Amino acid sequence: MQFDLDVTSRRVVVLGTPGGARRAVARFQRSGATVTFVVDGALPDASRRLSTVRYAAQPDVADTPSLLRLIGPAWLVVLVDAAPAVQQRVRELAGHLRLMTVDEAPAEPGGRVVLVGGGPGRTNLLTLEAVEVLAGADVVFYDRLAPSTDLADLAPAAELVDVGKSPYHHTVDQRTIEERMIARARDGETVVRLKGGDPFVFGRGGEEMRACLDAGVPVRVVPGISSAVAVPGACGIPVTHRGLSHAFTVISGHQRPSTAELEALARLGGTIVLLMGIVNLEQIVAGLQRAGLAPSTPAAVVERGYSDSQRSTFTTVGELAADARRLQISSPAVVVIGEVVSVAPQLDEAAHVLDVLPRWGDDTFAAAAGDGAGEG
Ligand code: SAH
Repeated sequence: MQFDLDVTSRRVVVLGTPGGARRAVARFQRSGATVTFVVDGALPDASRRLSTVRYAAQPDVADTPSLLRLIGPAWLVVLVDAAPAVQQRVRELAGHLRLMTVDEAPAEPGGRVVLVGGGPGRTNLLTLEAVEVLAGADVVFYDRLAPSTDLADLAPAAELVDVGKSPYHHTVDQRTIEERMIARARDGETVVRLKGGDPFVFGRGGEEMRACLDAGVPVRVVPGISSAVAVPGACGIPVTHRGLSHAFTVISGHQRPSTAELEALARLGGTIVLLMGIVNLEQIVAGLQRAGLAPSTPAAVVERGYSDSQRSTFTTVGELAADARRLQISSPAVVVIGEVVSVAPQLDEAAHVLDVLPRWGDDTFAAAAGDGAGEG
């Protein structure tokens, strides 16, 4: 049986080792409880303590008065991984005092970093593994494009650190992020680095992985749904389509692509997916046309994919720059160039989109249609 208890302002006493019980302590503290941590083992140094938690050394199992002093005022006693004899004695005393007790499994040892792809921004597009990893996190460093609205629930024990990355505006610089992740992992914590999309698609995930490996910190990668494929899909654009395109190239517009790159792209003839492309859009589109791409080639821009304010603009390569200016298209946005754009249900026929999307058999799309995926 499972039920929810509101622990706000309640006195909660947690018993366990510093490593095993750290997550239970953090979770109750973040839920607003008044927490006393009865520590089995050496008390953690001041720098590693949570500021509003009271830390107490675990009394000897035979020292009933001290045990009673600690657990007596409790509303809830949480038994994690204190020595079995102590747990048993506390259970007996709690029984006499009619205190509620719960058992909780100890946290697994930390000391590692997990690079997690958060998908294009909506909580329900996180993978099951991402959700599982977040649930066991001690600290989460997250980017602006990662799904963050439900993080406090998904990672209830974790300290949430916004490292606020957006194009040309890095709140915390890359080296500092890496150093902080490594330092926390070395402290024995499970560190989650939550990124938008997939960590290895323009996400500097490779650099962060290398930094961890060079520091001797174990690191693992959980892939995510990349916006490069998912955001065009949010308005019904398939990046490949039989007979129209059997290749797609994902390119960053963060730095302007070279003339040679643009010529190769124009010659290749497949779909071009441009990420971080809004700032340099005019130059990129002009360069593609100089390289021979026909101005009549269909193009689309999908802004804020999967959010309530998703907007899709359908145009052509020749009109793209002017439309972007006129409509004040802004980042984050994915630009798609190629014949595949014409496969999408035309978004000015919103009814048609609502009709088509749910049939793809995923209730995500039903929700997306309701929250604006079908807007033109
Ligand atoms: N690792 C990410 C990409 C990071 S680069 C991934 O795999 O998706 C950041 C760029 O991704 C943005 O500038 C934008 O072009 C695109 N992007 C990410 N999420 C988006 C979203 N929800 N809607 C539109 N574009 C998005």
